[in-house]
Amino acid sequence: MQMKNILVLGGAGYIGSHCCKYLADQGYAPIVFDNLSQGHKDFVKWGPFIKGSLHETDKLIKVMKEYEPVAVMHLAAFLSVGDSVTNPSGYYNNNVVGTISLLDAMIKCDIKNIIFSSSCAIYGQPETIPIQEFHEKSPINPYGRTKLIIEHVLEDYETAYGLKSVCLRYFNAAGADYQSKIGEDHSPETHLIPLILDAALGRINCIEIFGDDYNTPDGTCIRDYLHIMDIAQAHFKSFEYLLAHGKSLRLNLGNEKGYSVKELIQVVKDITGNTFKVNISARRPGDPAKLIGSTQLAKTTLNWQPQYNAIDEIIRSAWEWHRKRFSV
Ligand code: UDP
Repeated sequence: MQMKNILVLGGAGYIGSHCCKYLADQGYAPIVFDNLSQGHKDFVKWGPFIKGSLHETDKLIKVMKEYEPVAVMHLAAFLSVGDSVTNPSGYYNNNVVGTISLLDAMIKCDIKNIIFSSSCAIYGQPETIPIQEFHEKSPINPYGRTKLIIEHVLEDYETAYGLKSVCLRYFNAAGADYQSKIGEDHSPETHLIPLILDAALGRINCIEIFGDDYNTPDGTCIRDYLHIMDIAQAHFKSFEYLLAHGKSLRLNLGNEKGYSVKELIQVVKDITGNTFKVNISARRPGDPAKLIGSTQLAKTTLNWQPQYNAIDEIIRSAWEWHRKRFSV
């Protein structure tokens, strides 16, 4: 039997490449479309690669006609909270305008299923923890606003054109499927875990903690870290759900546990056995103090179960990959 195709936008990136690996393991052919602005060609290992931008609607249509994907997974986005505050133009252009171009190509090609990588950043400063899906949406940075806008666009496209969507609201992606030689590698790097690992490897002189005066037990921000293969599993199960039930969903993806910046630094020191300098600097604009997600809805609706919920296991997998990729 011929393998079914799934078009993965941003499939050469960190989360996208892990989704491709998972899809291939399940017998699907991931077709990667990526502009390589953040992605890596060497992360594309499980299917064809097309270099292109979300803004190239005609190229997207051509690819969709050629490969006839049963669904689209859209992970091609700018993803740094801090950058979005200083460069909102880039974020709205890529994450909003680019996504609309993609959706319009889908409608033209009569492809009606999309898994969209949304974010917990749509909730803003949470009123209640753990955050449930019905929590008020009030993003406090442009990145979160771009994701929320697309969730609204998807509702309108469903009403008008019958497009079904699963929006997966990630908390913090972490770890790596290091046997596949894929992992977290952004340039420039802005994310906490790879930066702490860089400090442990001696690639940077010290790790900066962005604020230790938050209303949390040790004063540093708390986030909910989820292993990347658990995120990939959720993408696949969302796809199966869409095909089986034809119903749109909005789901949180997290581990329901929070770790502070200081706690993560300690976990990295324990796992690597390396010491490094830590510096307290100013708060980063756009950062809520504490984000922890309730993921009951994803578990019950998708029959999704995270496999790697221990933080040391998550960090160890990130370290294994990071060390191999970046050691000189
Ligand atoms: N952070 C930090 N130092 C860094 C990078 C990040 O203290 O060099 C903090 C950041 O302020 C946030 C947390 O680590 O509270 C996670 O940030 P990251 O950018 O990894 O993910 P985000 O939660 O913004 O998606």
